[in-house]
Amino acid sequence: MLKTLSKIGLLVAALAVGTAWLVVLRLKDVPAPLLTVYGLLLAGSVVGSLWPDVLGRLSTRRRVLAFLGVPAGLGTLGLYLAVVYYVTDLPVLLALAAAACLVWAAAALLRGRWAAGVRGARPSRRAFLLGGGGLALGVLSGLSVDLAERQRRAALARGEPERQAAVRTPGARRRIVDDAVRVFPIHTGDTIVTYGQFYGGLDGWEGLNGYVRTLVDKAQIAVPVYAYLIDHPRHGFMLVDTGVNWEQAHDHDGYYDMTSRLLTERDEYRMSPGQDLRVHLARLGYDAKEITTVFLTHVHDDHAGGLRYLPQATVVMDRRDWEHGVSYPYSFDLVKDKLSFPAFNSGAFGAFPTGQDHFGDGSLILLPTPGHSPGHMCVLLRMDVGGVLFMGDTLYTLPHLAVDQVRQMTIGGADTIHQIEAARRIQKLLASDPGTVPLFAHDNTRYQSDLVAAAFDQGVLGKEGLRELRTHMEAVLTPDWRLRPGHTPHYVAPASGTGLGRVEFR
Ligand SMILES: [Zn+2]
Repeated sequence: MLKTLSKIGLLVAALAVGTAWLVVLRLKDVPAPLLTVYGLLLAGSVVGSLWPDVLGRLSTRRRVLAFLGVPAGLGTLGLYLAVVYYVTDLPVLLALAAAACLVWAAAALLRGRWAAGVRGARPSRRAFLLGGGGLALGVLSGLSVDLAERQRRAALARGEPERQAAVRTPGARRRIVDDAVRVFPIHTGDTIVTYGQFYGGLDGWEGLNGYVRTLVDKAQIAVPVYAYLIDHPRHGFMLVDTGVNWEQAHDHDGYYDMTSRLLTERDEYRMSPGQDLRVHLARLGYDAKEITTVFLTHVHDDHAGGLRYLPQATVVMDRRDWEHGVSYPYSFDLVKDKLSFPAFNSGAFGAFPTGQDHFGDGSLILLPTPGHSPGHMCVLLRMDVGGVLFMGDTLYTLPHLAVDQVRQMTIGGADTIHQIEAARRIQKLLASDPGTVPLFAHDNTRYQSDLVAAAFDQGVLGKEGLRELRTHMEAVLTPDWRLRPGHTPHYVAPASGTGLGRVEFR
């Protein structure tokens, strides 16, 4: 009785693990019919190994177990590799096949010896064949390492000549030397996100539920990833966030480790050669090596990727993000000894109970805005005319300022409360200071593509540009932070049924 109960317990546990595994595979787009067959094999092999007598009564126990168990085992291995390596890592697959053959050969050999007695034993023919096959596969695996590596390098080098050429373009803009504070938006490619993750926070995209929907939902859109260059007459060249790097966008398997490969989409980022951070800086007349400080609004991958190009920079970020928020540490490999954590002890700043006056002269204030990540911060920069507030991911776009109508996916619980609290403080800051304009990391509206691009064309925010940005803000949002008609985002599915959708504001 007890034995049966524990077996049922084991069966339930095995089925739960199996189901979770099938869900992961489904999320990774493995076709449903294939998964059904595989699921039946898995279930059959578990039942067969727990109740072999059931199969015994069928008098073909071993055959049935081999029929179910071996394919289920091989299926698990194969699908795991397919998911983790997308079956592109030929050397690994060949090496595993070689190892399997050699183990099998050794088993056959030992069994032959055992059956024939130690003396006078003769290795069986099967062991020889398997061993030979294993060795051949091993050699092939070794040979294919070179091939795979060459392919990877080719993928990475794609666009390299164009990028180099872009850096050397004679038309590259010359850096303007005067006493003005300059800010340049830098568009470092696009990221593919689910519409709900971006705009669905009020539509149930919260907590674990939100994460599962992120994986399952196929309503995807592309949104830009922005970093910002600051050229300051007293404080030098700085960046707010760094965007995505070329390797991240083009060598997903090489860049991410195995666990993160399971959790990330292979085609998460899109980047043309001209969108490479270094090309951008060169085109503006700057060199990535000149950047002394990076203000990282938070540690997420699409903001920290460019740190790979800035090993000399000091990275200023909230300690809480470094301690609790880093999910992809590779971006930080070169700078992890150059981190600087603000104390946030410069006293209250408007609606913010505390902030950090980074240079002590009021020119740049760091404002804690936890929520999107445990230590998210916004950056307020005083320019010659007015100022700019770099949002990071506290608010993705201009319509997100209407936080009661448009909200990104939130973590739930205290984090959601903090996130909304931060949004309200930002609303108050912008309302109390008509000379300040928000700059977003992922704005996919006309605000960024037309107005910000025009206002910061030469880096300097003029009176006219400032007025146009604020006028546009008022055309989109009411004084009590609601969206005016014509500005509510809606998802529009792609006409072909597959591919990326787009966002329409109406
Ligand atoms: Zn982001």
